[in-house]
Amino acid sequence: MAGQPGDEELRGTTSGADRPVPILMYHQIDQVPPRGTPFRELTVDPSNFRTQMHRLKRLGFIGLSMHDLKPYLSGQKSGRVVGITFDDGFQNVHTYALPVLSSLGFTATNYFVSRQIGGSNVWDAEVGVPAAPCMSKLELLEWTAACNEVGAHTLDHVHLPAIPAREAKRQIEDSRKELEDIVGNTVDAFCYPYGDVSENVRCMVEDAGYAHATTTIRGRARPSHDAFMLPRRIARCSDGWMNVLRKCLTG
Ligand SMILES: [Zn+2]
Repeated sequence: MAGQPGDEELRGTTSGADRPVPILMYHQIDQVPPRGTPFRELTVDPSNFRTQMHRLKRLGFIGLSMHDLKPYLSGQKSGRVVGITFDDGFQNVHTYALPVLSSLGFTATNYFVSRQIGGSNVWDAEVGVPAAPCMSKLELLEWTAACNEVGAHTLDHVHLPAIPAREAKRQIEDSRKELEDIVGNTVDAFCYPYGDVSENVRCMVEDAGYAHATTTIRGRARPSHDAFMLPRRIARCSDGWMNVLRKCLTG
């Protein structure tokens, strides 16, 4: 009988060099807002997040930041790994996700909007997304102290291909500098706000010195992928555990 997609990966029999690596994309970890709220799907309930991480661990997965995932993305190492990423630097990730990750020995990357550290998701206000605080500087430092990574997500969460090139360059370069000043280390990870990217924007990110960038393109990453166009799998509030597992094993 034919196996289910992903069976060979659960058994660890896929060859290492071309093994696809899932990168999960989360935003907020919090009580899910009422139906009809814009972008409601992007908030995952804390108990669901906890279950997802614990079950991944039980299946032998190690959750890793983009930094820690690098040798797997380049094909140098193989193993049952999953990238854990959060967009926007929300405070509720510090509250609910950080303790879970730490307790399991997982690491993760959070992409911060550098001008909203200690602020909120003002960029989403006009489409009716409820206000949610972003991590403070202190919380960001607690995030990194637990071996998690700080990535950049521009200064102001802008649509990069839609703004003048000079401003896009400033958003990409200055957010890196501002975050590096806070963490006292290099910032290698970038994420395109809204998943908006063009060939020009992609090159600006590489020229700014980042090592890789994630998108909202759906799929798992392979060593053959452009490091500045990495696909991810979105974890939604409506995803049950089996859906999350399927996203880690297929696509
Ligand atoms: Zn974002």
